[in-house]
Amino acid sequence: MSQQPGQLTFVAPRRAKPARHLADLTMAERRAAVAELGEKPFRADQLSRHYFSHLTADVAAMSDLPAAAREKLSALLPPLLTSVRELSTDQGTTRKTLWRLFDGALVESVLMRYPDRVTMCVSSQAGCGMNCPFCATGQAGLTRNMSTAEIVEQVVSGARALAAGAVPGGPGRVSNIVFMGMGEPLANYKQVIGAVRRFVEPAPDGLGISARGVTVSTVGLVPAIGKLADEGLPVTLALSLHAPDDELRDTLVPINTRWKVAEVLDAAWAYAAKTKRRISIEYALIKDINDQEWRADLLGKLVKNKLVHVNLIPLNPTPGSKWTASRPEDERAFVRRLQFHGVPVTVRDTRGREIDGACGQLAAAE
Ligand code: SAH
Repeated sequence: MSQQPGQLTFVAPRRAKPARHLADLTMAERRAAVAELGEKPFRADQLSRHYFSHLTADVAAMSDLPAAAREKLSALLPPLLTSVRELSTDQGTTRKTLWRLFDGALVESVLMRYPDRVTMCVSSQAGCGMNCPFCATGQAGLTRNMSTAEIVEQVVSGARALAAGAVPGGPGRVSNIVFMGMGEPLANYKQVIGAVRRFVEPAPDGLGISARGVTVSTVGLVPAIGKLADEGLPVTLALSLHAPDDELRDTLVPINTRWKVAEVLDAAWAYAAKTKRRISIEYALIKDINDQEWRADLLGKLVKNKLVHVNLIPLNPTPGSKWTASRPEDERAFVRRLQFHGVPVTVRDTRGREIDGACGQLAAAE
């Protein structure tokens, strides 16, 4: 389902829902679900420990559960993701997985191992309704929202591979999670918040990853940014700005026709004030489109003296797009202009371009 230029899709098409999974539920809900299956509520804790601490979903391996209980409880661990293809690069330290969901929908996730951390980039929707013209995901439109457990399973699967030593560098753990895969996380708010809670809750409730290591990246759904600030989850907010002026942002990030640059920045500053977390402003540098020095200057003026960091992303190529990354000298000049305003800025060391696993390249085709 492709979209007309500028068209926005907020509401996902109605579809059959994936099966209920342990990771969809709070601990209280798990106890109730286990009781419904005719088991003692404490089995929910045991099951949770197997899944979130030992990363196992195979009830046959849960030797502390009686055989009859194992069978019943397996209903709470339905398989949700099937690996269709795995591509890796950087000597195996960057791996992209294409997943098929129960209904045939396809999504991708990317694991990136660095010397000091492991970041997993996860999808929150199959496709995306936000239609940014430079992003491959946006071109195909929105298929459906993912469930909390479908989002969590992407990380659990990466964590499993790391724990098993299947990623070069020895056994390891996931330290960072970024919602920068397919989809607009704040357009699937409830399921995404559920997943964030599972990520940060300590075992056996969840994976026990620090909230500081979780980044929610958004095109700028202003009301949802306000709601996120009130969740008491100090995750990092990344705002995909890409242009400092409404005229250009209206075309690069079509949601801007709803909420303007000034409004979305106000929402971001309110988020920073409430959570004390630094806002990450994402800005893909596109040759001769948004990389002029005057735009760097305007951006610098808009964000100076705020709790902010600007992340410049050299544009990654996508099929059918005529746009390319900025010239190196223009990129350098852009950085200098921002530094002149005292704005912290980095250029993202993009990983996974060779496997179409970099920002904006996830299209999930077989
Ligand atoms: N929908 C969310 C998260 C997914 S994209 C969002 O838009 O923030 C993660 C980041 O990659 C966003 O900042 C997005 O704008 C950026 N991106 C998309 N396409 C890109 C491309 N071709 N090159 C570089 N960055 C891109």
